[in-house]
Amino acid sequence: MLSNDQLDRWDRDNFFHPSTHLAQHARGESPNRIVTGGSGVYIEDRDGNRLLDAFAGLYCVNVGYGRTEIADAIAEQARELAYYHAYVGHGTETAITLAKMILDRAPAHMSKVYFGLGGSDANETNIKLIWYYNNILRRPNKKKIISRWRGYHGSGLMTGSLTGLMSFHNKFDLPLSQVLHTEAPYYLRRPRQDMSEAEFVGHCVAELEALIAREGADTIAAFIGEPILGTGGIVPPPQGYWAAIQAVLEKHDILLVADEVVTGFGRLGSMFGSDHYGIKPDIITIAKGLTSAYAPLSGSIVSEKVWKVLEQGTDENGPIGHGWTYSAHPIGAAAGVANLNLIDKLGLVENAGKTGAHLNNAMTAALGEHANVGEVRGEGMLCAVEFVKDRETTTFFDASEKIGPQIAGELVKLGVIARAMPQGDILGFAPPLCLTEAEADIIVEKTVQAVEKVL
Ligand code: PLP
Repeated sequence: MLSNDQLDRWDRDNFFHPSTHLAQHARGESPNRIVTGGSGVYIEDRDGNRLLDAFAGLYCVNVGYGRTEIADAIAEQARELAYYHAYVGHGTETAITLAKMILDRAPAHMSKVYFGLGGSDANETNIKLIWYYNNILRRPNKKKIISRWRGYHGSGLMTGSLTGLMSFHNKFDLPLSQVLHTEAPYYLRRPRQDMSEAEFVGHCVAELEALIAREGADTIAAFIGEPILGTGGIVPPPQGYWAAIQAVLEKHDILLVADEVVTGFGRLGSMFGSDHYGIKPDIITIAKGLTSAYAPLSGSIVSEKVWKVLEQGTDENGPIGHGWTYSAHPIGAAAGVANLNLIDKLGLVENAGKTGAHLNNAMTAALGEHANVGEVRGEGMLCAVEFVKDRETTTFFDASEKIGPQIAGELVKLGVIARAMPQGDILGFAPPLCLTEAEADIIVEKTVQAVEKVL
């Protein structure tokens, strides 16, 4: 066991942390919680703090911490067969079983699962498959991808480009030229406050149509979106948004990728966000909730329409030139099988809907009318509170005031972890799907106390 001093030193001297202010961390100025254990919705740190994790890690530990069913499945798989690859038709019973379980739960028109490691690589796979698809269909110019400002799709070269958050572009020479961004369906931040929700949907559609007209539909391959904006602020779409967007995409023969890395496997109270909002995607991205983060695993679920063209492509060109060493890793697959069984056994999709509604209602009752709250919003087990300087005029705080991080900082002192979302003064909640109503009430009570300390 390392002493606290040694841990801090080794951490600073050796460990390059993702999404971290490197200089502040090296100077010991940023929080560095070192986590030692977890059970249910709680984690423990090296200082003996027990914290209610109201963000489920990075909205991924959906079944909660300490599930021995999944740990045992991983251990058993590691003992029996830690690894074999999936190239040239090879595989394992575990990965084959998991693919079947995913398709049994996915929308009916989906056909096959390609396994990866995380959400970013799954979205990279999607874009390669889409380019391949259009090449096979002899449409070599139809390659651009549209995503939304504030969308989050990962931080690789292509996926970081698709991500519509400037902090993922700045100084990385992104976005790549094949990526276009369009309006975020973010009603609170609509261009004119006098716009109705229906008018705002019309505005989003008009923006998309104008972009397609400007670029030419024959150059645009796909549109990617999260059913509900996640990292960009936890923003449910306005009523009618998805139906209107899909009509435009269909008209121009543009594929739709539903990035369900956050929403897949129950977070909205439906198995998939696509079911929840009536979206009919050509490809679905899955990751986090697939294994509840007990092991890294992601997937690209492709529809029959896409699959048929990919098959045709390999008849014309030979084996598809795309694969990761760890595609369909048996240990990830074992975690996935045990995780999906547990979600069913515990009724966690239903609980996400029911307890998530309780969390959202209680948060709205507690803070919905606060003078510095612009909006309490959410869906299923996702909830956000957006703080504003002036509620009447919807004036936002200056980013330098760091209201979101300040409130999140106070909340941790009270024993609850929420996430200060990366753009805007937004406190995000995405607890494990096993949250109880009593735990939801703790989150709300402590959030109110933290808000009172800062505003
Ligand atoms: N897509 C969405 C919607 C996400 O929220 C995330 C991560 O938060 C990703 C993709 C990227 O996943 P990963 O961090 O596993 O690469």
